[in-house]
Amino acid sequence: MKTDLPEKFAILQRDKETYAIKTNTPGGFVNPEQLRRLAEVVEKYGIQVVKMTSAQRMALIGLPEDKLDEVSADLGDMGGAATGLCVHYVKICPGATYCKRGQQNSIALGLKMDKMFQGVNLPKKFKMGISGCQNDCSEVCIKDAGLIGTPKGWNVMLGGNGGAAPRFAVRLAEAVTSEDEALKLVERIISWFKNKERACRIGKIVGEIGLEDLRKEIL
Ligand code: SF4
Repeated sequence: MKTDLPEKFAILQRDKETYAIKTNTPGGFVNPEQLRRLAEVVEKYGIQVVKMTSAQRMALIGLPEDKLDEVSADLGDMGGAATGLCVHYVKICPGATYCKRGQQNSIALGLKMDKMFQGVNLPKKFKMGISGCQNDCSEVCIKDAGLIGTPKGWNVMLGGNGGAAPRFAVRLAEAVTSEDEALKLVERIISWFKNKERACRIGKIVGEIGLEDLRKEIL
């Protein structure tokens, strides 16, 4: 029986026969050269459906297994979007670079986060987000970890998820003014979760421990 193939960055589709590959487009940014290459790949392999995802990627749907490696190779720097038991992505809002409500630069820091953490192996899938203000358009409140900008700095969040047992993230630290410090805290959250070696979303553990003890363990 066929299954997902995370080592090929591929998800088995409903027909239990074909796969989808997602573009590795951190923050949803693409340039004209990438768009042209994407169109070439879609035409070359006769891909019938291209769908934008909530992870700011594009899913190329309906690929046969024997074409997965070729498609990934042809996607070039857009190939290799992490999936499976690891950090999948960082959802990034326009932040203070473009959005009139932005209070922190979510794009610059979010792209750094993606570079540092995407693909890091963990006991369970792990989704991240960063929002430039408390409107939280990147939905950090339902991400495993992330940052929310405020006029005073970054709030560091963890333990949110959607799904059948949805949870809101809790605020581990607030008003972190240094980007390096915010990144270090995210790194600590990821190592802490990795060391737990439990095959559940981080939010379940957060719910069991309680915020006070969680701060003692991570900060
Ligand atoms: S979270 Fe704030 S900064 Fe980001 S897009 Fe939404 S309103 Fe703008």
